[in-house]
Amino acid sequence: MKGRDGRRWRRLVAWARKELPPVCHICGRLIDTTLPVNDRMGWTLDHRVPIAVAPHLAEEPGNLAPAHRGCNSRKGANPNFRHEAPRQSRIW
Ligand SMILES: [Zn+2]
Repeated sequence: MKGRDGRRWRRLVAWARKELPPVCHICGRLIDTTLPVNDRMGWTLDHRVPIAVAPHLAEEPGNLAPAHRGCNSRKGANPNFRHEAPRQSRIW
């Protein structure tokens, strides 16, 4: 989330965390908001339409949706992401 640490963004994050249901928009499961933010299953704020596709929607509340950190980073900025399993699995 580089470059997304402005005051407005932080306010949006605080708003979303409080107002949006803690459901991951990528996998559809609940997010445990008590987990630390760096946890794989922790709460992050994602964009429904990636910023790479629609930069003007970067701070549009309607384009924001909670996601698990793991889901969010798996999706990345790929606009073609469609919940498929990755073609090649990597073991870190
Ligand atoms: Zn998820």
